[in-house]
Amino acid sequence: MLKCFYPSRYYESAYDIEYEKLYGDGFRGIIFDVDNTLVEHGAPVTDRARELFSSLHKMGYETCIISNNSEARVKPLADIVGSKYVSKAGKPSPVNYIKAVEIMKCSRDTVFFVGDQIFTDVWGANRAGIKSFLVKPIDRHEEIQIVLKRYLERIVLYFYRKSLDKEGKYNEND
Ligand SMILES: [Mg+2]
Repeated sequence: MLKCFYPSRYYESAYDIEYEKLYGDGFRGIIFDVDNTLVEHGAPVTDRARELFSSLHKMGYETCIISNNSEARVKPLADIVGSKYVSKAGKPSPVNYIKAVEIMKCSRDTVFFVGDQIFTDVWGANRAGIKSFLVKPIDRHEEIQIVLKRYLERIVLYFYRKSLDKEGKYNEND
C-alpha cells in the first residue's frame, strides 16, 4: 500500500550520488527538485550547486529542474547552473516529470529524479514511471506544514527500510 511512496534509492544528499557510475549504467537525464535538495529553501545558488551541474553536464547528462515554486524563484537559479527547468510544476502530478523527460530529449527509462520530499517529489516520479532518488533535506529547520509531512514521511521510511535488501537498495520487483 505504501509502495507508491517508496523511493528507488535513498541518499544522504544530492551531492552524494554516484552520478558517474549511473551514467555508465545508461542514465542520460536527471530531474532535480531545488528547495532543500540542491540549496536551502529560498536560498541563492551555491558554488557547490554550480560545480555539481557543471560536472554533470561534462559527463554528458541533460538536466531539468522541476519545482512547485514560481518562475521568479526557479528561472534565475536554473540559468546560473545552465539547466533546463519547469516552474509551478504541480508535483506530485506526473505531468511535468514527463514534460521534463521530453525537454531533455530522453526516454523515461534513462532518467532519474532527485528530491527531498516523499509525498510530492517521490510520489510524482513514481507515478510518472521515473526512478526516484530521495535525499535528506539540506535544512532541517522547516515550516510547520512541512514538519507534519516529515512525521508522516518517517512512517513510510520505517516500512521502506524494512523492505530494503542486503545491499541497502529497495527491490522494485518485490
Ligand atoms: Mg524540496
